[in-house]
Amino acid sequence: MTDTITPECIDADTASEPCTGPAYDRPALSGSGFTYARCDRHYDAYAARLAPILADSPDTDTPPWWWDTSSDETWNDPYDC
Ligand SMILES: [Zn+2]
Repeated sequence: MTDTITPECIDADTASEPCTGPAYDRPALSGSGFTYARCDRHYDAYAARLAPILADSPDTDTPPWWWDTSSDETWNDPYDC
């Protein structure tokens, strides 16, 4: 007998649509390195939400709208948290 812990979809309680399929850990599309458990449906919804944001501001390149307004701030500054 094996104890398989199935992660719970993080959108299960907040989304208007019920979960579809098993939830499992998936890497965050933002590139943060975190993983979040989501079911198939809510991962698709999450990816659809993120797609336009990621297209507008890829986290590896300085976006065209970014400019240095302050002296010591850069687009790729690491967070202090
Ligand atoms: Zn779900």
